[in-house]
Amino acid sequence: MSYSKEVYEAVTQELQRRRVAAEQEAAALRARMRRDPRVLPLEAVMAGSMRRVAQAVLKGGNAESEIAVIRAESQKAKAELAAIMKEHGETATSFSPRYTCSQCEDTGFVNGRSCACRNTLLREHAAAELRRWTGMKLCSFETLDLSFYDNTFDERLGCSPREAMKEVLEYCRWYGTHFALSHPNLLLSGPTGTGKTHVSLAIAAAACDRGANVVYGSVQALLHKMEADHFGRADAHTEQTLLDCDLLILDDLGTEFSSPFYTSALYTLINGRMLEGRPTIISTNLDAAAIYEHYGEQIASRLIGTYEPLLFVGRDVRQQKLQRRYHAEG
Ligand SMILES: [Zn+2]
Repeated sequence: MSYSKEVYEAVTQELQRRRVAAEQEAAALRARMRRDPRVLPLEAVMAGSMRRVAQAVLKGGNAESEIAVIRAESQKAKAELAAIMKEHGETATSFSPRYTCSQCEDTGFVNGRSCACRNTLLREHAAAELRRWTGMKLCSFETLDLSFYDNTFDERLGCSPREAMKEVLEYCRWYGTHFALSHPNLLLSGPTGTGKTHVSLAIAAAACDRGANVVYGSVQALLHKMEADHFGRADAHTEQTLLDCDLLILDDLGTEFSSPFYTSALYTLINGRMLEGRPTIISTNLDAAAIYEHYGEQIASRLIGTYEPLLFVGRDVRQQKLQRRYHAEG
């Protein structure tokens, strides 16, 4: 799995910004301190010690005692410099840059491997980018209240809606927190207000947390973006972004305008991602018959045939929340 190009670039820039800031701060400190006449001679002692050690070694013979003297002098100069800095009210104790991460010195890599600080930045930037795409606050599974789902036995379900939804939620939680490219495509269907968008956003947040490059959006918004690219800017790359991301979540299929361009763009996304083996999650209020009617055989057969169906049941949660608040406020 990989983050988008934009995320890597933003993180590289952030690391560079940190590194440059630390180095500039060190240079400014040195310039300030050099106004004190005691500093330059101490710097000369420290700077010269490496050269003197090398000379002692090259001379041969018993260099050890000579090296010990040089080292002691250098240590003493260092301590004196630290004391002078303290005198001037500086918090630093040397002229070495104070990097944000001492492990990688803000380069982002340790022994050729991505540093923990860089991994954290990547996750943060990916989450920010996801929020930019969704324009919504990301949800968590914890904030979905199962008590809004009816707990009476439903013959068609073979259990209560609450029990059915508990199972759906557990599966979706697993899907997000263990996200992998080998995960199946999901078709979340059910009436308005049964939690499909909430669960989609929670999956998005969990998968993003795992380092997946997730793009989330309403079908209407994303297809509109593709259309605007198609008839507008030649350098735009919405279609490629939607095809390449690790997980694409298309919310609210069936509420977008109907147009030949939209249908063909939708097919490109569904089919293209299927061929590349990248999972897609689609949520919709439409049932299978309506999907066939709206989108035709090509799209419907893929959604019905190869997507794992998850049924969202129950009464409109938003309506119920409003009612509860109304009664609570009396
Ligand atoms: Zn680091």
